[in-house]
Amino acid sequence: MAGSQTKLIHCDDETSRVPDVAPPINVAATFKYPEDPAKLVTAEEVESEEGWVANGSPIYSRISHPNSESAEALMTGFLGRPTVLYNTGLASFNALLFHYHPKRIFFDRCYHGCHGMANLMTRWGALEQHTLSDEDLDKYLQAGDLLHLETPVNPDGTSFDISYYAQKAHEKGAFLSVDSTFAPYPLQDPFAFGADVVMHSGTKYFGGHSDLLAGVLVVKDSKTRHQLLEDRIYLASNISNLDAFLLLRSLRTYELRIRQQSSNAEKLVKYLADKKGEYKVLDKISHSSLQTEAFVKKQLPNGFGPVFTIEVTDAEIARVFPSKLKYFHHATSLGGVESLIEWRALSNADAAKTILRISVGIENVEDLIEDFDQALRSFN
Ligand SMILES: *Cc1c(COP(=O)(O)O)cnc(C)c1O
Repeated sequence: MAGSQTKLIHCDDETSRVPDVAPPINVAATFKYPEDPAKLVTAEEVESEEGWVANGSPIYSRISHPNSESAEALMTGFLGRPTVLYNTGLASFNALLFHYHPKRIFFDRCYHGCHGMANLMTRWGALEQHTLSDEDLDKYLQAGDLLHLETPVNPDGTSFDISYYAQKAHEKGAFLSVDSTFAPYPLQDPFAFGADVVMHSGTKYFGGHSDLLAGVLVVKDSKTRHQLLEDRIYLASNISNLDAFLLLRSLRTYELRIRQQSSNAEKLVKYLADKKGEYKVLDKISHSSLQTEAFVKKQLPNGFGPVFTIEVTDAEIARVFPSKLKYFHHATSLGGVESLIEWRALSNADAAKTILRISVGIENVEDLIEDFDQALRSFN
């Protein structure tokens, strides 16, 4: 079987409609039906078989369009599992909630937008919320409920044990979804540890250039994929034409990027951890590579996620620190080829004012290390 980088270049070959090596951006909202009257299939006939989405060629771009079909074929081929794309990571979480429509969701410390979306459903009276603590799980978990685990977790980049929560979910007949945005495949494969569905913000590593929004759901069987595609028509959250094109362009180099980002992050974290005693203002470093629990290396066999945090000794230093760096833009978000740092107090009202989140890019790691080292030493 072909290797991952080969798949990333070729898994969409069959969806190509033109000889162009780089696909065109298809801006059409609507597409002509077949010219041959014999090939016209009525809605009733389609519905009775596999639904609107299986018609074979695009009909209307809210349902699907050539760029989204190619990007989906590429993701499905690369991940080796049925995959559905959305217009944002948050839209993929929304689709997940509509698909499982659980009475109760168990989650904590997830992406703030996921909590915000669950709050909208709770306001509607449609969803009870609990944490992933053993107390809550033992007391409230029932069949059909959803556990939603983000690992590695924002902003620390530290890991939770997927198998543990999969077992908790399955012994009660509940489901486990994993937000794997911080360590996408091939770093982490949550299905190998019992996840029922995996979500990603494709905006981050799959996109990788800080210039598109995308969401991803990966499922176990094509029947579920088909249901998700049908739901997506009514949730109105298909990925847009330009973003699907950009995603396709980005995916061509995805594995090269993620491996470099992961390796850069591990080396930078190791350097800082080794030298920690020499930096007066560096209080703490958090990252999966520094965790000692046995499950962490099993869950991340091909490298750790490229995001980590540091804590400095006081809030004023955290405010100034990003301005001391040459190769880390001070900005929110993560996953792009460029390294970023963010004083978390700027985007998260609950974060300690001493925390800085670092998203490591694909620059030469020696330059990143030297830059970080001089910035920390400037406070000595
Ligand atoms: C960014 C992010 C999301 C939301 O993705 P969008 O593409 O911004 O909607 C969800 N989960 C995690 C862990 C994220 O980092």
